[in-house]
Amino acid sequence: MFTPRRPFIHLAIGMALLAAALPLKLEQARAQTGIVVENIKTEVAFGRSIIFSAKISAPLTIKQISLLFRGVNETVTRVETLQPDADGNTRFEYDASQNVFPPFSKIVFWYQATLEDGNTYTSPPTEFNYDDNRFAWRTITRANVSVHWYAGDDAFGSAALDAAGAGVLAFNTLYPVAFDQPLNIYIYSNADDLRSALPLGGADWANGHAHPESGIALAAIAPGDSQKIEMETILPHELAHILLYRALGQSYFQQPAWLLEGVASNLELYKNLGYDQALRDAAAKDGLIPMRDLCAAFPADSGSAYLAYAQAESFIQYIRGAYGNGKIATLTAAYAEGLTCEIGVTKALGIPLNQLDQNWRETELHQNVFGAALKTLAPYLALMALVLMVPLWGLIDFLIHKIRYGRK
Ligand SMILES: [Zn+2]
Repeated sequence: MFTPRRPFIHLAIGMALLAAALPLKLEQARAQTGIVVENIKTEVAFGRSIIFSAKISAPLTIKQISLLFRGVNETVTRVETLQPDADGNTRFEYDASQNVFPPFSKIVFWYQATLEDGNTYTSPPTEFNYDDNRFAWRTITRANVSVHWYAGDDAFGSAALDAAGAGVLAFNTLYPVAFDQPLNIYIYSNADDLRSALPLGGADWANGHAHPESGIALAAIAPGDSQKIEMETILPHELAHILLYRALGQSYFQQPAWLLEGVASNLELYKNLGYDQALRDAAAKDGLIPMRDLCAAFPADSGSAYLAYAQAESFIQYIRGAYGNGKIATLTAAYAEGLTCEIGVTKALGIPLNQLDQNWRETELHQNVFGAALKTLAPYLALMALVLMVPLWGLIDFLIHKIRYGRK
């Protein structure tokens, strides 16, 4: 691992030394100005390669040249040693087939050269967009929202823009945020195209994805009869993730999964009718996931993940109804303080997470939690009934017998 050096530091130190040591011979002075990097170029073949090329020269012999690069939101910098040709031209081809950089993210790179005087000089950084250029994207922009798509007509782009705008308005009912930074939405025409763009391929059931820190939402929506419903479902959900991040900053990453996904799912403009059925089925067979198990992350397999989204959506809806919309911000503020998943609920709503979970089940799903508990306690209750019926000595007899022979 390598921590990036701040660019310019070497140059700045060089210039300070120069000022202190005047007069210097011209050649020495030029050496202090470090390296010259020209003809800087990057060529992206998305999902395949990134080619970095540049011509690097210096007044002194160059001992070693390195290329350093990373995603702008990453902390790890990749370092590659380069072999320049006789004219100082360098070329490095990075294998991007593992999709380690998210699509449409920004990558920053710079060069470092060690000269024969032993000093290392760093070039100013250059940024470029790692765009998914496998498709011919079209763009429509209004206010700070841009929609990019490659399948479908003009009306498709306009409809997506409208759905995104409706999503932003809906979000404002929960969190008034200044809408002063750009949002970019990229709509793939099918789930395979979307998944092939995501690091590690993404979950196989996902039809939307957000990079909150970059202000980028990705979706898979096919042009056709169901496009409007899909746009008004997926886009507000993914935009909610971005806007939540903008409202919460880094504390976004401290929030429980059920809270983030619950809020995002609540802002979908169409209610997912399949969620109700999934909740009813799970409640009937006592198969709901305890909310405390949805704090860190959602299950990876599609069936459990679907139920987790259904629960989170219903859970947040219950909190909004029972405690008011304002309590959602109170909850996120509690988690921003670093409170645990359990304690955050207690602090914000005055009730432990488990109790809130039970109240939600009883109110929204009419699940008889007491009845379910009775079922679990049945063997003990039978024992209790026996205890009450058997006379005292009989009971003692029973216990002795149980202790002697009955223990497993
Ligand atoms: Zn989500």
